[in-house]
Amino acid sequence: MNARSGDVWAFAEQEDGVLADISLELLGKGRKLADTLGVKLCAVLMGSGVEGLAQPLFEAGADVVHVVDDPALKTYRGLAYRIALVKAIEKESPQIVLFGATHMGRDLAPAVASALRCGLTADCTDLRIGDYEDKKTKEVFRNVLHQIRPAFGGNIIATIVNARNWPQMATVREGVMKALEKSPGRKGEIVRHEAGLDGVDIPVEVVEILRRHSSVNLKGARVIVCGGAGVGSKENFALLHELAAALGGAVGGSRAAVDLGYCEHERQIGQTGVTVRPALMISCGVSGAVQHLAGMQDSQKIIAINTDKDAPIFKVAHYGIVGDLNVVIPKLVKAIRKGS
Ligand SMILES: Cc1cc2nc3c(=O)[nH]c(=O)nc-3n(C[C@H](O)[C@H](O)[C@H](O)COP(=O)(O)OP(=O)(O)OC[C@H]3O[C@@H](n4cnc5c(N)ncnc54)[C@H](O)[C@@H]3O)c2cc1C
Repeated sequence: MNARSGDVWAFAEQEDGVLADISLELLGKGRKLADTLGVKLCAVLMGSGVEGLAQPLFEAGADVVHVVDDPALKTYRGLAYRIALVKAIEKESPQIVLFGATHMGRDLAPAVASALRCGLTADCTDLRIGDYEDKKTKEVFRNVLHQIRPAFGGNIIATIVNARNWPQMATVREGVMKALEKSPGRKGEIVRHEAGLDGVDIPVEVVEILRRHSSVNLKGARVIVCGGAGVGSKENFALLHELAAALGGAVGGSRAAVDLGYCEHERQIGQTGVTVRPALMISCGVSGAVQHLAGMQDSQKIIAINTDKDAPIFKVAHYGIVGDLNVVIPKLVKAIRKGS
């Protein structure tokens, strides 16, 4: 198959037989791209004993699951995954390959792009199909992948195309794209591939994996109370924890709050933190810089508390409270506890 008419692929990341959420999110966006192009949406699943994960991928929108199942792929090792994935891509010639901008995706995607001599756009916030005209040669490329992401510190939104060296490859941060509603029982086709690792010396051996599980789950929280530099101190973040506890929510922070040591890095919301879409976001002492908004502006309801009536956060807020968070938050907690 010619890469220019090939399918859309999403790398289905899994660890210990558990699919990462990003795999389903990539399929959500991939479905739209594949439908626009009139091609199949495929997931590529790699690991050892992982074929059972094909069914949830079909239910999340994949038409085809390319499975590379090999004991050497049990735990992620860059070289082994790169060799096996490049082999599958060369055989099937997809026109688009998407990866999560996770630790694994950020390691694997550049290695694959380098081996295939194609481009790669990291950390896309949107992906669309459109045409592109080379202004110098006047050559027009139809139906190429528009890879959209903030650039120059978030001051511009750049649309990047890779019209000459295919496949077109991009990574997407977790939480940015939406997974489709699950279609229980949806069927698809499984295509099995050899890993091509026989006789290959993989110089990395995984001896032991030590995991530190995070106690913070911002992506899954329905309510987030987010604090910024305006909270004033690490100790004062207790106010936010109190409000979050009253609402059954989680506490997040701006990058300034993280940099100032007010809260842990895993709580950072924004372009270089987590992207969230809770039912309710209460933003306290956050100015609303574009890099912060990139990670929270799709929240269903946003309440902003800020002493500065001109703070940009009020432009995205559904409700704004101009006031000192040290006064407003205790009143809110009291009112919530009273049940009003
Ligand atoms: C490449 C790049 C990536 C970035 N990524 C991120 C990211 O992922 N997430 C992120 O958040 N930022 C990110 N930033 C930083 C971003 O540009 C801002 O600097 C940051 O978001 C500011 O945080 P803040 O709103 O908490 O602080 P400030 O901008 O200092 O705002 C503090 C706000 O608190 C208000 N305030 C002060 N006292 C009170 C009070 N008592 N009560 C109520 N309000 C009060 C002030 O009026 C002010 O609006 C990034 C920047 C760059 C260049």
